[in-house]
Amino acid sequence: MPRIRPEIESLVRYSPGLPIDEVARRFGIVDIVKLASNENPESPFPEVSAAMAEVVAGVNRYPDSGCYALTNALASATGIASESLWFGAGSSELLSVTSRAVGGPGTSFVFGWPSFAMYPINASLGAAEAIKVPLDERQRYDLEAMSEAIRDDTTLVFVCNPNNPTGTYRSSDDIDAFLDSVPTSTLVIVDEAYAEYVVADDYRTAIPHALERPNVLVARTFSKMYGLAGLRVGYMIGQPDTLVSVKKAQIPFSVNNLAQVAAIEALQYPERVSERVKANREGIEFLDRALADRTIEYAPSQANFLWIRLGPDTTAINQALMEQGVIVRSLSDEWTRVSIGTPEENQRFVHALDAVR
Ligand code: PMP
Repeated sequence: MPRIRPEIESLVRYSPGLPIDEVARRFGIVDIVKLASNENPESPFPEVSAAMAEVVAGVNRYPDSGCYALTNALASATGIASESLWFGAGSSELLSVTSRAVGGPGTSFVFGWPSFAMYPINASLGAAEAIKVPLDERQRYDLEAMSEAIRDDTTLVFVCNPNNPTGTYRSSDDIDAFLDSVPTSTLVIVDEAYAEYVVADDYRTAIPHALERPNVLVARTFSKMYGLAGLRVGYMIGQPDTLVSVKKAQIPFSVNNLAQVAAIEALQYPERVSERVKANREGIEFLDRALADRTIEYAPSQANFLWIRLGPDTTAINQALMEQGVIVRSLSDEWTRVSIGTPEENQRFVHALDAVR
């Protein structure tokens, strides 16, 4: 047998939600609703699909490894300097590349728990010890406890804001105080995969911190709000010197031609983003009400999903929901994560829940 690194051998692989086709095959159902991966229920904007169609014939060529046009498009849409932007095959790739760049034997990574399932996997890939800090009693990142958990050997901290899977957030004042408490030799990634969905008044992006501090990076993605999860394109914002260093661990050409063209086009329609924020909020409010009517506990969400307490029967309920054609994500013994779908899909979830509980 080949020798595998022990930290890789002992890894539990990231388990994605079951794809629609697989559930269709297993249960012989045709009309399936997938509310399991925090995807956008809407297709990409039509202009985005058209822009991709125009460049399909050019995929015999490698993509632009430096994402020149996309960098300029995002720089002009956001006012952030091009040197402070870094693209990857989804923000997942950038989280992983950065973990490998700052990890190594004798290092540790600190992050809240439960949180994005890739953080502990990235710690293993980075050969770093994972220090999981439990969420506070409101299911939010416990930034105070995280400050205390940071050790001399901690090279990376993940702050997921809003947090996946709970949908809870910390205010910008809390983030400011936390970042002030972190030693400058420890890198902090503020993962803002769901930032576009937030409506809370006291939330602000950590991008200004990433531009001011060499030890802060902000991760963003085109997968959620822009509905481009299947293309794999995300980005990080940070100081140029920090980015130049961590980028060395990235393989070339990771953002494909279609993804680059699609992301550029997607940035041209900010008013549609506002419509999607509104539609998502309506979906959350509908589900909040439905759950409150049924006295089911849930965490207040600023993202495009809800963290719901289905109790000790969670696993059985999730399985029964799947047999009804509704796929949700089971991430704990007692709690389930449900992504916000279209109004019809949200209703279907509530009906299916009533049928199986
Ligand atoms: N961060 C968080 C918190 C996420 O939930 C996800 C996707 N589930 C990602 C990063 C990665 O997104 P992507 O790789 O599609 O950009």
